[in-house]
Amino acid sequence: MLLRNRLSLMFMAFASMTSSGDVLPMMLRKALARNELTPYVQPIYNAQSGKLVGGEVLMRWHHPHLGNISPERFIPLAERHGLITRITQYAFQRVAEEIIANNSINFHDMTLFFNVSAADFKNNEILRECRAFIQKTQHTDLHIGLEITEREPVHNTSMAQGICEQLEALGVTISIDDFGTGHSNYHYLMQFRPRYIKIDKLFTADIDTDETKEIIVRNIITLARDMHCMTIAEGVETAAQKEKLIAMGVTHLQGYYFSKPVAMATFFTLAAQTPQ
Ligand code: C2E
Ligand code: CA
Ligand code: CA
Ligand code: CA
Repeated sequence: MLLRNRLSLMFMAFASMTSSGDVLPMMLRKALARNELTPYVQPIYNAQSGKLVGGEVLMRWHHPHLGNISPERFIPLAERHGLITRITQYAFQRVAEEIIANNSINFHDMTLFFNVSAADFKNNEILRECRAFIQKTQHTDLHIGLEITEREPVHNTSMAQGICEQLEALGVTISIDDFGTGHSNYHYLMQFRPRYIKIDKLFTADIDTDETKEIIVRNIITLARDMHCMTIAEGVETAAQKEKLIAMGVTHLQGYYFSKPVAMATFFTLAAQTPQ
């Protein structure tokens, strides 16, 4: 295990040092072709009712020699090397395949959130993926959400605006990810007219003991309410955090306290067990 971690670290250090960026793109391309990447899903719950309302798709990469490579390492590198749209496509396609392979269970209006990056707003590919996904899974009563981060800014081009309008027409909802940790949060609120604001785990951690974090989260919740947005607190790890967030009026909860990201089949079992 330790050796694997060390190998993985050495590899990633090497991959990020090569300015030509030949190593990681090559390995990621291979990983995509060999299905080394697997979409997992972390359940999301309604804070009031406790009911499962959907989940977030999180990519896992198991390399045959290096073991598990964290998305915190390979996603930013994929963004820098122009490979993130391939990962987005792969996520949509793999998840749709898994849904169909698992007897197309009925999700009763649940939402699956996909993480997307700035590059996904530079052409119409994301629209094609959403349309294809909806077409393949429409009989399952499942909705698509997109989580947009600010790791790399999505510029407010006419292309990006057009994509947002068409996503809205398709019934795809937008969620602003990592809210309050980037540089252009308010800008994003105006640009995307999101349905959800995600409260980053940075704020959720110690929410029950840290007054500054409580003030910040209170403000995010007020802002979200005024904008008719719902709030998803991620990274909920303890009962105390959960109770605090519910008392503060967060609408949705996600975190290890409820469940870690799980294999799709496990998520489907949870969804099938959820009363309508
Ligand atoms: P994120 O979107 O902010 O996702 C939340 C991260 O927190 C995930 O890490 C999740 O596994 C982790 N997490 C969930 N609950 C808890 C908790 O209770 N405690 C703690 N400490 N952590 C928790 P993960 O899966 O390692 O993903 C890291 C980041 O990589 C994500 O951050 C997201 O930005 C990115 N990412 C992952 N999969 C994809 C993908 O398919 N496409 C894109 N574009 N980005 C992805
Ligand atoms: Ca419905
Ligand atoms: Ca996310
Ligand atoms: Ca986050």
